[in-house]
Amino acid sequence: MLGGRTNHWGRISLRFGPKDFKGKTRDGHGDDWPIGYDDVKPYYDKLDKLIGVYGTNEGRENDPDGFFLPPPKPRLHELFYINGAKKSNIPVIPGRLSMLTKKINKDRGVCFYCGQCSRSCSVYADFSAGSCLIFPAQKSGGKVKIFVNSMVREVTTNADGKATGVSYISKDDRKEYKLKAKVVVLAASACSSARILLNSKSKQHPNGLGNSSNIVGKYLHDSTGADRAGFVPSLMNRKVSYNEDGTGGMHVYSPWWGDNSKLDFPRGYHIEIGGGMGNPNYGFGLNPNEFNKFFGVKVGGYGDTLRDDVKKYYGSIVGMAGRGESIARKENYCEIDPTTVDQFGIPVLKFNYQWSDFERNQAKHMRDTFEEIIHNMGGIPLGEKIGKEKDYGLHTPGEIIHEVGTTRMGDDPKTSVTNKFNQLHDVDNVFIVDAGVFVSQADKNCTWTIMALSWRASDYIIEQLKAQNI
Ligand SMILES: Cc1cc2nc3c(=O)[nH]c(=O)nc-3n(C[C@H](O)[C@H](O)[C@H](O)COP(=O)(O)OP(=O)(O)OC[C@H]3O[C@@H](n4cnc5c(N)ncnc54)[C@H](O)[C@@H]3O)c2cc1C
Ligand code: SF4
Repeated sequence: MLGGRTNHWGRISLRFGPKDFKGKTRDGHGDDWPIGYDDVKPYYDKLDKLIGVYGTNEGRENDPDGFFLPPPKPRLHELFYINGAKKSNIPVIPGRLSMLTKKINKDRGVCFYCGQCSRSCSVYADFSAGSCLIFPAQKSGGKVKIFVNSMVREVTTNADGKATGVSYISKDDRKEYKLKAKVVVLAASACSSARILLNSKSKQHPNGLGNSSNIVGKYLHDSTGADRAGFVPSLMNRKVSYNEDGTGGMHVYSPWWGDNSKLDFPRGYHIEIGGGMGNPNYGFGLNPNEFNKFFGVKVGGYGDTLRDDVKKYYGSIVGMAGRGESIARKENYCEIDPTTVDQFGIPVLKFNYQWSDFERNQAKHMRDTFEEIIHNMGGIPLGEKIGKEKDYGLHTPGEIIHEVGTTRMGDDPKTSVTNKFNQLHDVDNVFIVDAGVFVSQADKNCTWTIMALSWRASDYIIEQLKAQNI
């Protein structure tokens, strides 16, 4: 799909901080990146200005400041969250989301708080790669040619082992076609780019393209995730609404605050907040009169009773989602499934991925913290307390859809797939610009860093072409 997952992503746009690039130096786990925050900062800055992101400069060491548009003010459920978090000494700052609260150019409008970002924005106020990057690029000069409905099978190579282009299956007529290219840039997402490389076997690259190290597919890791929601009786029976207007994302969040040296897991997480009086299907959840049970009143009913119950409880749920950093491990990987192909005849991936106690303990900390905050808000946690037997509610790997690490960057071609400019060690005219190149995940969502590194790699490609190095 044109624009990929940025059509319906959450638009939480966080920079990695200086510590996030140097995990091993910090605590001995995983590996350091071959680059640091200062290498990426200029590109984060350019992204903020090009795309637009709301937030505030807070001077927090590992949650770097940027060029922010004014953030929307907290809604009532978020004010409750702020109070609840404060009682547990957990910081809360304005959210950082790529939605325009001020006009930045003639092509894009300003958010009018319809709250429907997951369906993509009718005035292009929120960021999607299609509406904000591809369409403008088409308009200004027309140097972009797009082949839609085209499923890439492999990168083609010549006798010297250099890339010559790609071969793809047309979804329209199911035939195979070839495209020639001087430079091939893969951005199919961390797992799909690994799949394309592994499927690109030739005499010169018998183990797949860029895979002389046997590292392609290895070190796959996703964000950790655990959630909890609470019912807050003080938010019931709202006759008037208090500032319920808002974007389709959170107005406040909690960046990681803990000291891992005192905890039984090495890396942090941030807390995303949900709730309020959004579209009832999304904001309300569960059985509309389920909460009658807390007051000893009959659960169930139709007609006027149901209508009254919906009005009574609408907007009284606050949800929290932890999104954290897992440790990248070589033993967690994707590989080509030798027995299965997709509908186009292209071999698919299979996955081998286990969480360790670090991630499980982190999920326990998340859920315990959320419960404490819910109590601090005067709320009642919903659902059961989940124990060790179910990994304390830790989502299964892949569910948070922040998969990274399959073609990681590094200085040593034996232990990494690309160099620090996203260029394959093995073939200098192939680049990977998705999250495959991540050495570690950080306790931040990954897309702002994917885009900053992609811009950095683009500058490098232009420089190398001009110098006739590739
Ligand atoms: C519901 C949801 C919410 C999210 N919220 C956030 C958030 O708030 N913040 C954040 O930072 N991240 C978020 N993410 C993650 C974010 O969407 C991804 O990190 C990001 O989109 C990855 O970008 P990408 O270009 O690498 O991959 P994708 O967005 O997956 O794009 C890859 C593209 O390549 C195409 N493709 C794949 N294989 C082939 C092939 N063989 N041939 C041709 N084309 C191919 C795909 O169709 C797709 O168009 C969210 C994801 C989801 C699903
Ligand atoms: S809430 Fe989202 S979809 Fe609605 S106007 Fe704002 S950015 Fe666009």
